[in-house]
Amino acid sequence: MAVFMEPSSSKSQGMKSLNENRTPLRRAGWAAVVYLIAGFAWIAFSDTLAETWFPDPKTLSVIQTWKGSFFVLITGVILFSVLLRQLTKDRALLNLQHRQRQALRERERQLQILMDNLPGMAYRCLYDPDWTMKFVSQGCTKLTGYEPDELVNNRVTSYAALVSDASNQQLFEQVRVALEKEESFSLEYEVTRKDGSRIWVWERGRGVQEDDGSLHLEGIILDISDRKVLETELEQMATRDPLTGLLNRREMSRVLDEELQRARRYQRPMAVLWVDFDHFKDVNDTYGHAAGDSVLRAISRLLLGSVRSVDSIGRFGGEEFVIVLPEMDLEEAQETAERLRRKVAEEPQPLGNGEAVPLTISVGVAVYPDHGQTASTLCAAADKAMYLAKDRGRNCVAMAHLHDQVHNQ
Ligand code: GH3
Ligand code: MG
Ligand code: MG
Repeated sequence: MAVFMEPSSSKSQGMKSLNENRTPLRRAGWAAVVYLIAGFAWIAFSDTLAETWFPDPKTLSVIQTWKGSFFVLITGVILFSVLLRQLTKDRALLNLQHRQRQALRERERQLQILMDNLPGMAYRCLYDPDWTMKFVSQGCTKLTGYEPDELVNNRVTSYAALVSDASNQQLFEQVRVALEKEESFSLEYEVTRKDGSRIWVWERGRGVQEDDGSLHLEGIILDISDRKVLETELEQMATRDPLTGLLNRREMSRVLDEELQRARRYQRPMAVLWVDFDHFKDVNDTYGHAAGDSVLRAISRLLLGSVRSVDSIGRFGGEEFVIVLPEMDLEEAQETAERLRRKVAEEPQPLGNGEAVPLTISVGVAVYPDHGQTASTLCAAADKAMYLAKDRGRNCVAMAHLHDQVHNQ
């Protein structure tokens, strides 16, 4: 084991000694030692060498006169070139440092401008249940209502406290999965601001491993409340009838299919009521179209308030409404239809000008699986039953099978 350890330990020792050799003190010491050795060698041997090389006393005398100056000249030239080299290096290093500092300052300035103008806030936080903020940009105040130093280190509140507990658990799980995969994460959730108002935010971030081994999250959080309002409006427009606020024909067809599938899967009954206003044209002709609209809205509210939360009501067109009643058999469906008919007949409907008009409805009832197996056959059966109710004098409820029996006879 010790053998395997050796290369790495000798390598690190080598690096250490190399670094030590390069310390300024060592380098200066070596230069001084070299200079001293050369100086002393010159003093010790120059006379002997001169006598050996120049035996002529006249030449020797000239050499001895100038050899001191020669030594000073040589060492001066060496000193000059060494100093020149070192000072040139120092100057280049200083220039580099200056340029780097300038670039760093420029980058910091750009980053600051970017952060201050973000349409939300940039953050760095601990990966802990409090989402303890270590840094937030100035946008924090506009986004959350809290000053940056109120959020940092949970001084006044933790960021997690601005998010509901249920959302926090969900978000923590989403972040955990993203960190595990070493991916960035995108989250959408509601935040309670300092003034108590609630906003929708979109967050994008990633995990960052710090030098000390701790895990931080870094990213941005943007206010997307306007987008959420628009999304809700678009969803409403796609699924709701604008006049009554009830489900529109398309959404109602989807709900009917869904409920039918459920009924089929669990082998449960399900009823469809087809509602049509009696002599509604007369209301329009007598009181005007706006008054007719007011009656349509009033009866929609009345119907909606008279069914269970699991039931669905949709406006299929004009003054025709479809009601889907899950888990209702023939008898219960007939009772419900009768109750709705009575309720409408008992209350005169507001015309929007302070007056009210009495109105009645005719209702056709079809039940799965008795009167049809599919949405279209059930609707057709309920529609036919509604016409039977009209034939029977209006303001009444007719069951689909009665209608079929009448026509089969
Ligand atoms: P019936 O008893 O046979 O059903 O008679 P009705 O007058 O109700 O006849 P029908 O159902 O055929 O006519 C529906 C009328 O509803 C026609 C139209 O003027 C009116 N109507 C349809 N949609 C609207 C609407 O959005 N607003 C208003 N005010 N009236 C509508
Ligand atoms: Mg009608
Ligand atoms: Mg009609």
